[in-house]
Amino acid sequence: MLLDLHTIIANPGSVPFSYESDISDMHFDSVSEFLSPLRAEGKVVNSADVLTLTATLNVKMLCVCDRCGVEYEQEKTLEITAKLAEDLEDEENPEIFLVEDNKADLDEILITAFVLDMDSKFLCSEDCPGLCHQCGKPLKDGPCDCKKDIDPRLAVLGQLLNDN
Ligand SMILES: [Zn+2]
Ligand SMILES: [Zn+2]
Repeated sequence: MLLDLHTIIANPGSVPFSYESDISDMHFDSVSEFLSPLRAEGKVVNSADVLTLTATLNVKMLCVCDRCGVEYEQEKTLEITAKLAEDLEDEENPEIFLVEDNKADLDEILITAFVLDMDSKFLCSEDCPGLCHQCGKPLKDGPCDCKKDIDPRLAVLGQLLNDN
C-alpha cells in the first residue's frame, strides 16, 4: 500500500495508519507457514522536516524448531522505526526509505524491517532438549524408552580408574 503523506510533507504533523501486509508467499527456512498477515499500527511524523515512521508489527507463524524439528506456533511483535526522505542523499543507505510523489511504500518498509529483525535461531522453547540420538524421538515431551548407554569415552575412563 502507498501511504499518502502530502498533508505533512511541508508541514509538521502526523499521518496514522493501520495496515495488513500479505507475506504468505515469503520463504524462510524455519517458517513453514505464516498464520496471519503482517499487521502494522503506526504513524509517520514530520518533525522539523524529518519524516519518521514508527509502528508496531505483529505476526503469527508456524515455525520449525532448529533442535527437535517439531513445529510450534509463535507470535512475534516488534517495534520499528524508519527514516523516510524525498531525496536519498546517500543512495546506499538502506535505512532510509524513499518518498515518491508524496507517498511511502508501506509494504517495502514494513517487510524490510520484519526481515531484518527475523531471528536466526528458532527454538520451540529456550531449553529444548532436542532429539534422542538413538531413536530420534523429540525429548521435550519426556524421555524415550532407549537404554541410556554409557558414553564410550566415560567407559574407558571407568576402566582406567578400575585398573588403578
Ligand atoms: Zn524443540
Ligand atoms: Zn531414544
